Order: sequence, then structure tokens, then C-alpha cells
Amino acid sequence: MVKLRVKVVTWEDVVRWTKELAFVILESGYKPDVIVAIARGGLTPARLLADYMDVIDILSLKVEHWVETGSHQEEAVIKYAAQGIDLSNAKVLIVDDICDTGKSLMVAKDYVEKYWKARQVKLATMQYIEPVAQIRPDYFVDLVRDWTWYMYPWNYVEDMVNLVKKILKEHAPLSLQEIIIKFQEWYNITPPIPLSETLRVMEYRGLVKKVDGKYELS
Ligand code: AMP
Repeated sequence: MVKLRVKVVTWEDVVRWTKELAFVILESGYKPDVIVAIARGGLTPARLLADYMDVIDILSLKVEHWVETGSHQEEAVIKYAAQGIDLSNAKVLIVDDICDTGKSLMVAKDYVEKYWKARQVKLATMQYIEPVAQIRPDYFVDLVRDWTWYMYPWNYVEDMVNLVKKILKEHAPLSLQEIIIKFQEWYNITPPIPLSETLRVMEYRGLVKKVDGKYELS
């Protein structure tokens, strides 16, 4: 039985979605002067959007909410809150990869309005998970009806590690072959990074140890 609904996103998907998103925004008539990328998920989409939309100025705001694949802390918080930025003459576009609960976007919007004094703020994401989001981005291209974890290409390693950790928390010790079978059962995806490689990374990071040919969490 699938434990977590996961979708593997390719670089081609990201390029297609951000291009579509740029057109949606341009056709709305909104021409941002500054893009604020929510770090880390919004960094790559923001850079691509800036290219398609001819925006030179990109700033970034680090928001922490989902610290581990598929699970989050209650509140989103801004880390490294930069002061002294004046956007009072700027139309701003805040960009993130996905609007899940929407809390990251809400916190970022409040911050940019209150402390950076933005003249106008709009929100853009590729994915918008409608049934759970507490805010609707002004612009999005993929309306998601069933909650899914999107495995973006900039997060493959982190996500693979976390997905394997979840299995080993319940089922260790397991051989590579047993992990491959469980991974298929639990997530029903083709891993974007082979499990052998993921486990090697986990060994280097001291997250797993191998005893008699079987893996368990350290
Ligand atoms: P949220 O504050 O719930 O809207 O989500 C904050 C951030 O966590 C997003 O910008 C993503 O980087 C990450 N995230 C949350 N939910 C998902 C998901 N379903 N799939 C992939 N990444 C997610």
C-alpha cells in the first residue's frame, strides 16, 4: 500500500511550468520590478521566471517550514531577516515552487510588505494544492487536488534520503534488495537516484550503518 503520494519532477517539467507561469503573469499585465525568491524551493523557479520576464533584480528570503520530506513544523518562520531593504517604489513578485499549506507565502508576503515596504506584492508558484492551502497564489499553473509530495530535481538527494529513512525507521535492518522492494511498495515511483547511491550517501553522512550486509539507521 502506498504510504506517501510522491511525484518525481524532471528538469523539463520545471522549465515547462515556469515558462507557462511567466506567460500567465505577463498576460495579466503585472510587470514586477523585483522578484523575491523564497529559499530554498523558489530559487530555481525565480531565476527562470526572471529570465522569461526580463527582471534583473532578484532577492531571496529564507523561510523554514517543511524541514523533512512529507512532514512540517506548525509555523513558518523567516531566518536571516534582512533589514534596510527599501522596496517602496517596487512592484514585487514573490516566487516559491509550491503552495502547500501556504504558510511560507503568507509569512513572506507579510514580511516584504511590513519591513521592505513593497509598493505592491503578488504571489506566484508552479503548484497550488487547493484543498489544504490557506492562501491562493495570484499566479500558478498546476492546480493539485490530491495532496502529493513533489520531488523537485533540486531536492532529489534530500528527498531520497528522507524517504529511505522513513522505511528504515519502521523496518530495519534491511538488505539493499529489501529496501528496493519496500521503496516501490511505499512510494510507487522510479527513484530519480538509485537506492544503492542513496544508501552510499547516507553512509557517508553517518545516517545509516551496514551490519552483516543489512542497513539500519545509525
Ligand atoms: P508551505 O509553507 O506549506 O506552503 O510549504 C513550504 C515549502 O515546503 C514549499 O515551498 C516547498 O519547498 C516545501 N513543500 C511543502 N509541501 C510540499 C510538497 N507537497 N511537495 C514538495 N515540496 C513541498
